[in-house]
Amino acid sequence: MATELYRAEKLFIGGEWVAPSDGEITTSINPSTGKPWASVAMAGAKDVDLAVAAAKDAMNGPWRRMAPMQRANILRALARIYAEHAPRLAELESSDNGQPLRDTRAALPSHPQWYNYYAGLAEHLEGRHVQIDPNAHIYTTREPAGVVGAIIPWNAPLTTTTWKLATALAAGCAIVIKAAEHTPVTALELARLAEEAGVPPGVVNVVPGYGSVAGARLVAHPDVRVVSFTGEHRTAQDIMRNAADSMKRLAFECGGKSPHIIFDDADLEQALNAATHSAFVSCGQVCTLGSRILVQRSIYDRVVDEIARRASAIRIGNALDTATQMGPQTHQEQMEKTLRYFAIGREEGARVVAGGEAYHSPETEGGYFVRPTVFADANNDMRSSREEIFGPVCSLIPFDTEEDAVRIANDTIYGLVGGLWTRDVGRAHRVSAQIEAGTVWVNTYRYVRWAMPYGGYKMSGIGRENGPESLDEFTELKTTVVNLGNVYPDAYAR
Ligand code: NAD
Repeated sequence: MATELYRAEKLFIGGEWVAPSDGEITTSINPSTGKPWASVAMAGAKDVDLAVAAAKDAMNGPWRRMAPMQRANILRALARIYAEHAPRLAELESSDNGQPLRDTRAALPSHPQWYNYYAGLAEHLEGRHVQIDPNAHIYTTREPAGVVGAIIPWNAPLTTTTWKLATALAAGCAIVIKAAEHTPVTALELARLAEEAGVPPGVVNVVPGYGSVAGARLVAHPDVRVVSFTGEHRTAQDIMRNAADSMKRLAFECGGKSPHIIFDDADLEQALNAATHSAFVSCGQVCTLGSRILVQRSIYDRVVDEIARRASAIRIGNALDTATQMGPQTHQEQMEKTLRYFAIGREEGARVVAGGEAYHSPETEGGYFVRPTVFADANNDMRSSREEIFGPVCSLIPFDTEEDAVRIANDTIYGLVGGLWTRDVGRAHRVSAQIEAGTVWVNTYRYVRWAMPYGGYKMSGIGRENGPESLDEFTELKTTVVNLGNVYPDAYAR
């Protein structure tokens, strides 16, 4: 018997639910089954134009003049409503992108904290009094930068949308959210919650669509002042080129090939817990993946055996089964890409000590499943150690000295995050200071919170999300100078 499709067939533009004008209705695939599970609206370029026009109107309306405390109250209402809906949102997210339900159920209840934290920031958007001249009153103010175009990846749709939405509302911007073509459903749900929280019409608009159509139009649109993008660095480069004509502000959160360093004085049990989890979480589809595990040679063999054993024991299955520890890849092309890298790693001489193939079982037939894979005896010159695979794959690379570890860690085009395990506090700070990455975790990994700036060096991005620093991306800084008594002389007097 055919099951009923979940329906999300309207775009959210200017506070109205509307059918796509030049877009289409398509289906979203559940990656656990390979079958359509939802019927969804995809925006065309004209739909994006309508959304940007609505956002621009909203910027010219009461939203701009609304007291920060009122904006904060809306953010707090959204936090409350989100918390109520988190269990339902977790099921939708797991159906759309294949993250195990146990993970989405654990992650989503933290999202209201972002809205609450940004409510506080909205009330503290402050400038500076510049005291250099008793005859001039000089001060700075922060103003909303204008319409924000938010471009969302498929791997963590609700997390990445929440970060951008909370910041935009705190800054007093209007936002047009372009959800990814593979995972369009939950951004539309979030629009419903924003509406219920009292966000004025046009301040939040949601237009899922294809990158080359809706994404490209949003980037090129002259009335969009900021593009906040999360995704692959090559897409970011395209966006940079496309945004040049209208000289937008750009904020990019891109990928990584992050080093996770285990020194031989580490608390090995905890280091192994973290290294295994951060190599395979979300089927390897997270930007912070600790995909290069650098291990001091004296403990290398032990770490290889242990990570291989743990990887082979991970329970793979349908994302909606609460016993599942690792779900599918989010879409078929991503699964095919990961399978290609299994072959590449083998060809370049890495030793496969776990996985290295697709996963099949009667329960997962049709879905996009691969086995968690461990490449031992890897080195940092291999493509499998240099390129972001975005699958559950880690390369175990031995090193001898602290200097070696730092050199290998930094020998990458990326610089998103890094982790290190040691009991030597001097080494912890010394190595952290040398790692070229936006976040370094010492004796922990993947610790991310609303109040901590997050973003990358090098090809991993531009700008920061989270923390007060994120407001820099969404606000313009104005300097006002009021003359209190200086005489303006006639420059052309003879
Ligand atoms: P992607 O770059 O393929 O797509 C991201 C978004 O960009 C999608 O919405 C897509 O439709 C859109 N897009 C594609 N082409 C476009 C264009 N020409 N103009 C405008 N928009 C366009 O990335 P993905 O495959 O969805 O996500 C995986 C990547 O995202 C990985 O590299 C991962 O590391 C990165 N990521 C980074 C972070 C972070 O916070 N640093 C978080 C999550 C994911």
